[in-house]
Amino acid sequence: MQSMVMELQSTLTCPVCGRSEIETMPTNACQFFYDCKGCGAVLRPNAGDCCVFCSFGSVPCPPIQEARATGTTACCQGNTVS
Ligand SMILES: [Zn+2]
Repeated sequence: MQSMVMELQSTLTCPVCGRSEIETMPTNACQFFYDCKGCGAVLRPNAGDCCVFCSFGSVPCPPIQEARATGTTACCQGNTVS
């Protein structure tokens, strides 16, 4: 059990029209697609990012936050096992 505080709201900024929208992130899944409420563009994560919050949000997704806080490897980002 972790007692750390997770930031569950992230401000997503659309790279197409620049609209910012505060969205609540799921804690148990990575959101891969996001429909911009401004222009309707479907946002997808940048290469190497696990979800749209990591690419376009002001706050990365909860699994990444936890990984940064605990120093462990994130759910799918930075997982470069060879
Ligand atoms: Zn947009």
